Amino acid sequence: MNKTYTGKLQCINCGSDSQFEINDDKSFVKCISCGREYPGGETELVKLNVENLDHIKNKIAEDYTKIIIEKMNPNQFKK
Ligand SMILES: [Zn+2]
Repeated sequence: MNKTYTGKLQCINCGSDSQFEINDDKSFVKCISCGREYPGGETELVKLNVENLDHIKNKIAEDYTKIIIEKMNPNQFKK
């Protein structure tokens, strides 16, 4: 018997984080929004989310590093 739940995991296909269909032993997950299926179940979805989040975190870190460097060394860019 399938059930639905609300979690923080995001569908890597449509970005929806609202609803997934998941079976009892969590071996199969399906996104209700777009119908994307994750044959690896919750494990696959979590793995994809971790990779996704790492990518986003790195991008944010890059942008912030540039801003911090510019603020700490304002004269360096005027020479
Ligand atoms: Zn989706």
